[in-house]
Amino acid sequence: IDWTVEDGWHDARIQPYGPFSVDPASAVLHYGQEIFEGLKAYRREDGSVWTFRPDQNAARMQRSAQRLALPQLPTEDFVESLRQLVGIDEAWVPTGGEDSLYLRPFMIANEVFLGVRAAQTVLYSVIASPAGPYFPAGVKPVSIWLSREYARAGKGGTGAAKCGGNYAASLLPTQEAFANGCAQVLFLDESGDANLEELGGMNVVLVKADGTLVTPKSESILDGITRNSLLEMARDLGHAVEHRTVTLAEWRDGVASGEIVEAFACGTAAVITPIGAIKAKDAADAFGDADAPAGPVTLALRAALTDLQYGRADDPHGWMTQLTEA
Ligand code: PMP
Repeated sequence: IDWTVEDGWHDARIQPYGPFSVDPASAVLHYGQEIFEGLKAYRREDGSVWTFRPDQNAARMQRSAQRLALPQLPTEDFVESLRQLVGIDEAWVPTGGEDSLYLRPFMIANEVFLGVRAAQTVLYSVIASPAGPYFPAGVKPVSIWLSREYARAGKGGTGAAKCGGNYAASLLPTQEAFANGCAQVLFLDESGDANLEELGGMNVVLVKADGTLVTPKSESILDGITRNSLLEMARDLGHAVEHRTVTLAEWRDGVASGEIVEAFACGTAAVITPIGAIKAKDAADAFGDADAPAGPVTLALRAALTDLQYGRADDPHGWMTQLTEA
């Protein structure tokens, strides 16, 4: 779908997948005026295809657009774009296990000019790709790499928006994480108090021995739809939930004292990934056990959410949206 200042959103179309041309002077290539979303389509046993809380992705894309000076795509148009794309050929939504069709809506500033101001022409597009299970051989804990040197976002910046630039900033510390045998990088905030923020592509939740879930509150992290949903499901199951500032020391000391018994990362791609060990340049920052098995709360929440997404459980909150008929 195209957008211009004069005409607003217009010319919605579906075209075969392939390279499209972008002028070398397009704003997105120089100033990073780009945002995106990520969600999945799931096929049920009866053949129908559903997605999870697309209204939340639409709303987050509107917030991201606001921050990046891009136009707002109405929620109905966002959801309709997914419905049309998935509906082209239902056979491309995989069946079985934890397979899904990953959907990637994105918006780029494609006005041709050199100068730092918001572009006046924009393209919104959605691409899709079949995705297999994140853990084909069972849910295994991952190690994560603490970055004290690099920040992902700062106060007043774009941390809460889902824009490409945030991910560009996380690539170097992510390389460092991979080189140290870790799956993701853990970012702290800029306060100097070592407050937890999030991972390169997932939010973090800690589980206390009394069943309380604790998750970092910050203006500069991505408000994960998976995290919000899991916390609401946990409340339904009787867990207390604390959404507040959490320091690295609280996590480390809580693990040492037995007060914190599980930790997991969550996001659309992996649903829930148990966190085993925290590794770091400074040995004093490292803790946890890379081989610890996934804990019961982590596994129960993971099962509850995947059962809902694949239509194996009731949907009391009305979170599932049907994209195609059975
Ligand atoms: N934080 C970051 C930086 C992410 O990229 C993601 C993945 N979109 C998340 C958190 C989790 O968000 P969600 O649950 O909406 O996928």
